[in-house]
This record gives sequence, structure tokens and C-alpha cells, in this order.
Amino acid sequence: MRLIFLGPPGVGKGTQAQRLSETYKVPKISTGDILREAVHKNTSLGVKAKSFIDAGMLVPDDVVIEIVRERLKEPDCPKGYIMDGFPRTIEQAEALGKMLRETGSVIQQVLNFQLSDEELVRRLSGRRSCPHCQTVYNLAFNPPKQEGVCDQCKSPLVQRSDDEPRTILKRLEVYQRQTRPLISYYEGQKLLTNINAAGSVEDVFKRVISAVQKGKIG
Ligand code: AMP
Repeated sequence: MRLIFLGPPGVGKGTQAQRLSETYKVPKISTGDILREAVHKNTSLGVKAKSFIDAGMLVPDDVVIEIVRERLKEPDCPKGYIMDGFPRTIEQAEALGKMLRETGSVIQQVLNFQLSDEELVRRLSGRRSCPHCQTVYNLAFNPPKQEGVCDQCKSPLVQRSDDEPRTILKRLEVYQRQTRPLISYYEGQKLLTNINAAGSVEDVFKRVISAVQKGKIG
């Protein structure tokens, strides 16, 4: 299973990627998670990335491409993976294609998650996450059992610094300008399946499983 999850911020693709990764026992590769961890640990990558993330902008292509190149060398990748939040520009998609060709591999399917802007803003504003185990909650429709505390590891939940209203709007604009063109790019490669991302996590997951099975990669 070699999949890409594409879609605007707040669409829920990270949550779905996590579920699918647990179901099919393949790693979820989230460049956002890798970058946030680097920021948290204050590594040189983290220092470089922080200002872009906080401004709602994309981290430069060469930095992100290098992260993925290294991640794909890890021993858990040959059995497959779900890319969550990468690629986000045509340049990243081209670089990924080249990397995979070099190892004789291909992406099998791209799931494109779709949701109205209004609902995206609502989901992003209610999002809370665990800085320790990365579990994501939503105050409106997927709250933790105990307010402000992670169900999994009991750490205090936080709001991501880039989930503030002003940064949310910037990220949606960046998506439109830099990431949306990937829809036609992968449509042209006959890899794209649209997923209606409205409804509960459970409803959307059923659609994801059905798409993966239809694509004969599950
Ligand atoms: P995410 O968790 O996927 O929403 O990513 C959070 C932030 O990390 C984004 O707003 C970007 O600043 C940065 N980021 C994550 N993935 C990428 C990527 N593929 N290219 C550039 N920047 C990225």
C-alpha cells in the first residue's frame, strides 16, 4: 500500500491516515508531525522550520524533500506507507516521483479529501492535540474523555500555534495557491479518488476503506 492523502488543512486527513495505518499496519508519514517534533526538540531543522509553520506558510521544498528522502530509507517503508501532508507542491510531487522511480516503486493511489471552507475553519478552530503522542481531538465532535487531557497518555492537550484564526486563513490561502494544483496533476496520472470528508470520523473512514478496496490496494 503506497498512498498519498491530499487535501486542505483541517480536512481530517491526518486522523484518517492514522486509522488506516493502524488497520493495514503500514506507517503514516506526516511531514507536519516530523517538523513539529523537530521544533519541539529545537534541532537545526526545527529552528529553520518554526518561522514558516507559525506564519502558516510552507517550509521550503528542498528541506521537506530531504526529510522524506531520509524517512523512506527507514526499514518500515518497504511494506508501504501513507503520505499525509506530502507532497504539497508540484515540485515536491516531481521529486517524490523521481525518488520512487530510482527505487523501482510507484504511488498506487491518491485520496483527495474534500470539505467546504466553512467546515474547515470550524474543524481547525476546535482542534486540540497531544504534544506527547500526537493524538488529535476536536472539541466539537471528537472531544477527549476528560477535558484538556489526552485519552491515550494523559498529557495535557494543546492548541497548535498555527491553528489561530489569522494563521488558519493564511494556510487555506497557501493551500489554494500551492497545493490545489496537485489535484489536476494526479488526475492526469489517473491516480486520484475524491473522498467526501463531511460527517463523522467513522463515516469518512468507511469511504476511505471502500476507496482503497476499489483501488485494489487494500
Ligand atoms: P500539517 O500538520 O500537515 O498541517 O503541517 C503543518 C505545517 O508544517 C504546514 O503548515 C507547513 O508549514 C509545514 N509542512 C508540513 N508538510 C509540509 C510540506 N509537505 N511542505 C511544506 N511545508 C510543510
